[in-house]
Amino acid sequence: MENCIFCKIVRGEIPSTKIYEDDNVLVFKDLHPVSPVHVLIIPKVHFDNLHMMSTSCEGLEALNAIFQALPEIVRLVGLEEKGFRLINNCGVSAGQSVMHTHFHLIGGRSLGTKIV
Ligand code: 5GP
Ligand code: ZN
Repeated sequence: MENCIFCKIVRGEIPSTKIYEDDNVLVFKDLHPVSPVHVLIIPKVHFDNLHMMSTSCEGLEALNAIFQALPEIVRLVGLEEKGFRLINNCGVSAGQSVMHTHFHLIGGRSLGTKIV
C-alpha cells in the first residue's frame, strides 16, 4: 500500500529498529514503547486488520507464518522465561491507529492481571 507507514517500513522507506525478519514477517521496535520490551510483529504483505486477515486464505497463511516465527522472536527479545503479552487492536474502536495488521509483543516488567 502506497501510503501505509508499515508498508513503508517493510520497503525500507522509513527507518526502524529491526529485531527479526523472514520472507513473510517483520519485527521492529515500537516508536513509543510501553514496556522494556515492546516490538511490533507485522506481515510483510498489507492487510488492513486482523479480521480481514483471518477471513482470507492468504491472510491465514500470513498469520501462520507469524505464529511459526513467534518462538524465535520471543527468544530474540529475551522473554522466553519471563513471559509476554501479545496484543492486537482490530479496528478504530479497539484502538487501532495504523491500519496494517500488527501484534504488539510486550514484556520485561510486571504487566498486571488487567487487560484494559
Ligand atoms: P495501534 O494503536 O495501531 O495498535 O499501534 C500502532 C503502534 O505503532 C503504536 O504503538 C505506535 O507507537 C507505533 N508506531 C506508529 N508509527 C510508527 C513508526 O513510524 N515507527 C515505529 N517503529 N512505530 C510506530
Ligand atoms: Zn501496509
